[in-house]
Amino acid sequence: MDLGIKGRRALVCASSKGLGRGCAEALAEAGVDLVLNARGAEALEATAEAIRSAHGVDVTTVAADITSEDGRREVLEAAGALDILVTNAGGPPPGLWSDWGHDDFIKALEANMLTPIALMTALLPGMIDQGWGRVVNITSQSVKAPIPALGLSNSARAGLTGFVAGTARQVAGKGVNINNLLPGSHDTDRIFALEKGVSEAQGVSMQEARKIRLSAIPSGRYGTTSEFGAMCAFLCSQHAGFIVGQNILLDGGQTNATI
Ligand code: NAP
Repeated sequence: MDLGIKGRRALVCASSKGLGRGCAEALAEAGVDLVLNARGAEALEATAEAIRSAHGVDVTTVAADITSEDGRREVLEAAGALDILVTNAGGPPPGLWSDWGHDDFIKALEANMLTPIALMTALLPGMIDQGWGRVVNITSQSVKAPIPALGLSNSARAGLTGFVAGTARQVAGKGVNINNLLPGSHDTDRIFALEKGVSEAQGVSMQEARKIRLSAIPSGRYGTTSEFGAMCAFLCSQHAGFIVGQNILLDGGQTNATI
């Protein structure tokens, strides 16, 4: 299917690896020029070069912490005018409700709620002026059903989801579509950290920890970054103009809910 976005320009945050990279690759395959970001310059440059040579699109890189004000300024200045924004950042650490104080919440809110809101606030006016734009926020399955050990993530992502629910409806009439993608367990570096948590908490091997996690997923496997990227690219496509403020779950059936 032709996604109808060849020649558009996208910022994909936190995209040297994992889900962000999956989104960047799928957009590049659709002919979209990219601005890629991550903190570590080496992996970022390697990803950019791989995408340039596979898809022939223009790729700009900005090594910066997207969750800091300075980092966002640097990324936005280098990016210039954009048609598509994919927000993403690392997720907060697991723990127990009693582990977290005010500063931990502020850090999680900065990374997973206020950063995507700041990026949307900066970029929506340009998209509205040109009458076309797409925003996809990478959130989490925990928005639909809480993951008890990820209380910081549950809290911050619920706040972002509330902001998007209202804002998406305020900009939909201007040709701008905002939606959220909710990953369940995907085969990225982040999943190894979560498996390590299970292995340590339950005193089992890493192999056993993986088995325990997979047994909770009806598909019997983790999602892939290319499956995730394909859905992201579709939400950024010309065909997604009637999809507004949705929370799309990619979790292999793990969230046990009828709707
Ligand atoms: P990942 O494989 O660890 O990749 C994270 C990417 O983000 C890397 O490119 C990393 O590069 C970059 N990054 C991290 N913090 C950053 C920052 N402050 N500024 C700029 N770039 C940053 O992670 P992932 O699995 O793709 O997860 C992405 C998001 O989805 C996270 O918020 C995670 O909580 C959420 N999520 C993931 C899953 C899953 O199964 N994978 C499930 C639910 C939710 P640098 O380290 O070099 O900056």
